[in-house]
Amino acid sequence: MANDNKTLTLEDLGYNAFFKSSQLDLGLAEFPIARVIAEYKEAYRVKNTNGEYLAKITGRHMFNAAKREDYPAVGDWVALTELDEEKAVIHGILARSTILKKKYSGKQEAQVIAANIDIAFVIESLDRDYNLNRFERYFILANEGKIKPAVILNKTDLISETDLESRIDQIKRRFNDIDIIPTSTISEDGLEVLASYIEKAKTYCFLGSSGVGKSSLINKLLNKDEIKTSEISESTGRGKHTTTAREMYFLHNGGIVIDNPGTREVGITDASAGMENVFDEIIHISGNCKYANCTHTHEPGCAVLKAIEENKLDESRYQNYIKLKKEADFYGMNELEKRIKDRKFGKFVKNVLKQRKGFTDKE
Ligand code: GDP
Ligand code: ZN
Repeated sequence: MANDNKTLTLEDLGYNAFFKSSQLDLGLAEFPIARVIAEYKEAYRVKNTNGEYLAKITGRHMFNAAKREDYPAVGDWVALTELDEEKAVIHGILARSTILKKKYSGKQEAQVIAANIDIAFVIESLDRDYNLNRFERYFILANEGKIKPAVILNKTDLISETDLESRIDQIKRRFNDIDIIPTSTISEDGLEVLASYIEKAKTYCFLGSSGVGKSSLINKLLNKDEIKTSEISESTGRGKHTTTAREMYFLHNGGIVIDNPGTREVGITDASAGMENVFDEIIHISGNCKYANCTHTHEPGCAVLKAIEENKLDESRYQNYIKLKKEADFYGMNELEKRIKDRKFGKFVKNVLKQRKGFTDKE
């Protein structure tokens, strides 16, 4: 029942005109295509109307892949050669309609989390960890990859109806035009609303800090029993390659969700476009700053600072903007700029240490 492949179409898996035209553009029309539904260490599980395969990329592809973005990710559409009923080789990746990238602090390269996602659910839980500023971080991430965000406020069972109303008002005041779905996996309030929000053949991912209830929500949507690991043979799946990073599931109503276990706090990549969308009113105000390169932190004639003074701009939102902008600027730098900055910093540290040493030597 989980794999009712006789009636399954590629469209059910999310295929559409966009991917079709990419397939033609790339000269991959004669290859069967499939969607990447799980990513393992050196292999992918892919699915099409024939079933599921364990797939690897060709040596040539690996050789040509300059960066991580060149490798397939969950959600990608790939062109295949089927080797047998369970194994396949990936020849190419079709163009991505959207892309979700993540940057862990410290790591150099951004990581492609998933591709071809229609809506990113940004989840916050209504407990002590609730943090309005985190929404912007995730919205930027979504915006950068052209993914539409929507908000899930989970754990409504922990707060009163009036508190919930005021939280919702607060979000609406800060972000106009965002869909908000309050849920509780305990009382099950809002779960039907969430399920009906999810459309057939559209792909959804769940973003949020660990502990907000992502796994609980996905399990509720799946009714749990849909994950039939036993139906998937050892060589194609979970048995052999258990270290899956993320995985795609197909809901009864036809919606497609990507599970993203172990999400840590995310950093922003080169998100200038995402920043502009999420902080559009600040960007708008900054058009009136005296200096074109105004950083909106200390400059005379800064329209942004003036707006805060006149209570026309929320101060905490401004603080969050400055913080995220710093991050985005750093990640947006190219490798050379980063090295120079690092070198400068290295020199700076050396000088400080030298001075200190001189200082202690004198003592
Ligand atoms: P994840 O890390 O985002 O995947 O979060 P989990 O789904 O693992 O949930 C983290 C904790 O929150 C678990 O102890 C869940 O039982 C609990 N939890 C999840 N949803 C709710 C909810 O709606 N209300 C309450 N009170 N607790 C919840
Ligand atoms: Zn300014």
